[in-house]
Amino acid sequence: MVLGGGGPSSGRGRLKDRLIGQPCAYCAGARVSTTIDHMPAKVVFLGKHRPRGLEFPSCEECNKATSNAELFAAVMTREPATPEDVEELRKLMQGVRDTVPGLMEELFAYPPWLGPIPVALGQPPPLYVAGPLVHHHMRLFAAKFGFAMHHALTGVPLSAMGGVLGRWFTEPDGAHRELPNTMKLMGLPTTLAQGVKTVRDQFEYQTYSSKTLELNCSVIRIRKSISLLAVSATDRRSLFKVNNNKWGIWAPGDLVAGIPSVTPTGGGGFPAQQRFMGPAASVPDR
Ligand SMILES: [Zn+2]
Repeated sequence: MVLGGGGPSSGRGRLKDRLIGQPCAYCAGARVSTTIDHMPAKVVFLGKHRPRGLEFPSCEECNKATSNAELFAAVMTREPATPEDVEELRKLMQGVRDTVPGLMEELFAYPPWLGPIPVALGQPPPLYVAGPLVHHHMRLFAAKFGFAMHHALTGVPLSAMGGVLGRWFTEPDGAHRELPNTMKLMGLPTTLAQGVKTVRDQFEYQTYSSKTLELNCSVIRIRKSISLLAVSATDRRSLFKVNNNKWGIWAPGDLVAGIPSVTPTGGGGFPAQQRFMGPAASVPDR
């Protein structure tokens, strides 16, 4: 299934007509949408060149709640190839510094109790991604995908009883490695496209839905940097047994508070083996 797309007749005016005044995709329609939300956000794409598709009705509160997370995800996943790309990344990083104090510092700082930094000879040190601020923002980004993809796959917002489980991996094939059986159920990877132009090298996703659309699962890959797993269920109790609730379960509206209603049990947090990402060769101003 190709979601979105958008031919010549689907102009912005039409999109507005279709999405504004609808139940918000992220808070179970507790508020009506006053904005069009793009998932992933435009800022994630080089030069903000994003084909149409995967647009969602969003209230202002839910839309705003994740904008810092989206900006940070743009930084985390950038792989600049040209001087223009480097300049764009530098601006994005400054944007993160201006909006979330301490976040960039956390990415570049190693807690001394972790021991020697695992630096390969001749390589810059990797990024430290297991800090609380990094994890908070990336987890929020992954959870948002769960609500968005539920809307994309079912055509309606996740209901008030529903829940989302969102995970992020510091590798493009993290979900494939950890959940090989789930991945066998998934459809072929697809992307956003406008005519013959696609962003397949920047963004790809695969989905699976149960017959009754009560359970929906998506795996998202952003460049060669990260992958996300987003599972939504119309009854969030059915998610309790998934991954032993190590990552928490998000109810509609939780994005605004920035934490899942059902908090993680059994340790949770970030797996020790995924503490680092990189090397940070692509990040210009260390
Ligand atoms: Zn909302």
